[in-house]
Amino acid sequence: MREIYADNAATTKLSPVVLEKMMPYFTEVYGNPSSLYGIGQTAKKAVEDARENIAKNLGAKSPSEIYFTSGGSESDNWALKGICNRLKSRGKKHIITSKFEHHAILHTCKALEKDGFEVTYLDVYDDGLVRPEDVENAIREDTAIVSIMYANNEIGTIQPIAEIGAICKAHKVLFHTDAVQAAGYCKIDVQEQNIDLLSMTAHKIHGPKGTGLLYVRKGVLIDNLIEGGAQERNKRAGTENIAGIVGLDAAFQLALDTMDERNAKLEKLRDKLIDGLLEIPRSRVNGDRVHRLPNNVNMCFEGIEGESLLLRLEMAGISASSGSACTSGSLDPSHVLLAIGLPHEIAHGSTRMTFDETTTEEDIDYILETVPKIVKMLRDMSPLWEQIVKGEKSDAKFIG
Ligand SMILES: *Cc1c(COP(=O)(O)O)cnc(C)c1O
Repeated sequence: MREIYADNAATTKLSPVVLEKMMPYFTEVYGNPSSLYGIGQTAKKAVEDARENIAKNLGAKSPSEIYFTSGGSESDNWALKGICNRLKSRGKKHIITSKFEHHAILHTCKALEKDGFEVTYLDVYDDGLVRPEDVENAIREDTAIVSIMYANNEIGTIQPIAEIGAICKAHKVLFHTDAVQAAGYCKIDVQEQNIDLLSMTAHKIHGPKGTGLLYVRKGVLIDNLIEGGAQERNKRAGTENIAGIVGLDAAFQLALDTMDERNAKLEKLRDKLIDGLLEIPRSRVNGDRVHRLPNNVNMCFEGIEGESLLLRLEMAGISASSGSACTSGSLDPSHVLLAIGLPHEIAHGSTRMTFDETTTEEDIDYILETVPKIVKMLRDMSPLWEQIVKGEKSDAKFIG
């Protein structure tokens, strides 16, 4: 049976090229970068080389603007808590974000609300896009930071980051973006796009799990999240994850080197799959089709419960997701699909498939053969579907 891994937005396979670059730092170069002797200094050089190359790849002014962390969640927490706690004493107590951010942002906002901060959660409309004018209208005297993700992890929509950056700059408000899903797929230039803080992680781009970074523009003052030793210019304590940092740099470089060609290939496969799946009666694609990550397909099929579809897909060798790895196992419908205005019944029935450069046209053909059969079979067994067909119950507004 064909095996298709279609959950690359949850995590990716470590690239063998990346692994090879990481290997020496597990075994030979195991020194602590804070030590003065040879293997310590060799390790330190590896970290600083990675920092310099990543800074260049993000369009940063200086390597000192890159801080290595344990991943996207830590970077998101640090960006918001570090800035808000620093700016609190200047009377800044307002945060602007969107309703469909990753939980690393939303739950951090909830925690900050308990500490007395006020949060505006912007709408993302039915196309899954934040409107820059909504950001502008929400900015207040006391706004500390705007945090809008670059690309959404469930529906893959790509936000107008440069426009939002320009607005924040004009109003002298700090702008953070969670670029975890966008890195390696979208062009990032922190200066051109007026990004003050940016989160990234290695494991979504064929790098290792447990390593990420926070870019912080020079001059932006941020409180520490993790206290301890003097690592990362006294801003983020803890002995450096040397192999992870080397892997993050290698994975990002590889992703950038192959980006244009890979995106073109993936866009074709994505569009073929979406067009094919839309042939299923009463189906819909979630999120804008144009401003969309090249590897993201997210669909709903009316009358189908997401989890049952996933189980059948698994039996057919296809690893997909109902949205986000973080919420699977919970019975709540996706907050992202609710944010784009879907009713609960439909938000429960979503399926996300996210691909990578190893995905083939044959894989897509196989999915196109398999999904319609499963959907038909599940609908044939469903009393709900019977009601929908009889017109007793319908969400026709949402389903084409
Ligand atoms: C995966 C993900 C994160 C969390 O990153 P980790 O490295 O797993 O902590 C944050 N934001 C987005 C958009 C993600 O997709």
